[in-house]
Amino acid sequence: MSEVYDVIIVGGGAGGLSAGVYCARGKMKTLLLEASSNTGGQCAKTSELENYPGIIESTGPALMDRFRAHCEKFGVEFKRDMVTGLSTEEGGFIKRIETRSGETLLAKSVIIGTGANPRVLGIKGEKEFTAKGVSYCATCDADFYEDLDIVVVGSGNTAVEESVFLTKFVNSVKMIVLHDEGVLDADRTAQEQAFANDKISFIWNSCVDEICGEELVNGVKVKNLKTGEITDVECDGVFMFVGTVPNTGFLEGTIELAKGGYIKVDEKQETSMPGVFGAGDVCDKFLRQVVTAAGDGAVAAVAAERYIQEEEHWAESVLEAENDTLVAFWSPVDQKSLELMPSLEKVAADKGVKLVTVDTYKSQNIAGRYEVKEIPTVVRFSNGEPAKRLDTPEADQLESLF
Ligand SMILES: Cc1cc2nc3c(=O)[nH]c(=O)nc-3n(C[C@H](O)[C@H](O)[C@H](O)COP(=O)(O)OP(=O)(O)OC[C@H]3O[C@@H](n4cnc5c(N)ncnc54)[C@H](O)[C@@H]3O)c2cc1C
Repeated sequence: MSEVYDVIIVGGGAGGLSAGVYCARGKMKTLLLEASSNTGGQCAKTSELENYPGIIESTGPALMDRFRAHCEKFGVEFKRDMVTGLSTEEGGFIKRIETRSGETLLAKSVIIGTGANPRVLGIKGEKEFTAKGVSYCATCDADFYEDLDIVVVGSGNTAVEESVFLTKFVNSVKMIVLHDEGVLDADRTAQEQAFANDKISFIWNSCVDEICGEELVNGVKVKNLKTGEITDVECDGVFMFVGTVPNTGFLEGTIELAKGGYIKVDEKQETSMPGVFGAGDVCDKFLRQVVTAAGDGAVAAVAAERYIQEEEHWAESVLEAENDTLVAFWSPVDQKSLELMPSLEKVAADKGVKLVTVDTYKSQNIAGRYEVKEIPTVVRFSNGEPAKRLDTPEADQLESLF
């Protein structure tokens, strides 16, 4: 069994690495687990990156190298392993991470940044010819297609941007697009670049019905969605850019997932399991980009730090306290809470007990655990257990807690 880390980050893409910088700089003992041999995730497979603020032009791998170097500077520990399970020890504070190599690792908090993988359409021939002419990554494979003719499936930003990139290597790109002539799903800048590129042509209202070949791909059968007509298109390769699916298989049954398997998170990136946070493309969110993954990582790291602080303070000052404690669930923005505070302090002093305040405005974790619905709620704890409780009490009722 491992030592207990403050934070274990699962996944070394932009989200995980950004979380690493914030965790380690916040002096938390941080381990980052990455399944593949390189960190950087999807971004490290992105040929050109033009929209990360402050970095006017870079390659994805170059930017991710800098993210990693930043983590290393502050002392993030890296380990190559794939996470296969997540659970909690009794009480819920310590999380257990199971890995493919058979290790069990422990942490007070976990940040999941496992990202997403390219969607596989399941077209006839797709699986058979993967790495034999079917590719999901332009950066990885473009130079295998030098001066050859390729087909690109998809019409979103990734499909269009990667098509433009591929024209630096290939002879021609035919984009197979589901929509009517002139309609692409990519943003306007990307569209303009594609329409202006002589090497790119389009087959509209169509999808790929089959990928054909012998040892390697030599063509595709393209189906016109309006007429049903099937046309043979010769090509040497097929690049598939039709979206991604989140890497959350190992989380099923543990934390709440949204439609499509993405992790549900709140504004602090917290999942349905207290102390477990999500960051980046794996989350149910509006925009999946490097900059938003990095932002999520920062939020998750700071929220993880606060979570640990809050739980440790709670355990020390209430659960493990030798004497009774008076706990006030309150909020600094609630007038009744503010008015009650002097009386609470007086009662605590008169009875010789410690007053512990739980700010429900900052966090609902502990309040939720004791089903505190209204504030202020005041509870006398004895031997770590609630002994007597008053919901929204008046000052003159506080004595009755003893
Ligand atoms: C071709 C392409 C072009 C793109 N172009 C741009 C662009 O120009 N600008 C932009 O901002 N964004 C772009 N994006 C999107 C951007 O790359 C992603 O939004 C971003 O990389 C997401 O980062 P992430 O950390 O959430 O996830 P990922 O980058 O997917 O990283 C997740 C990491 O987790 C690891 N992992 C997964 N499961 C496990 C597990 N069980 N245990 C341990 N490790 C695990 C993976 O190996 C991976 O390294 C592009 C994406 C693609 C695919």
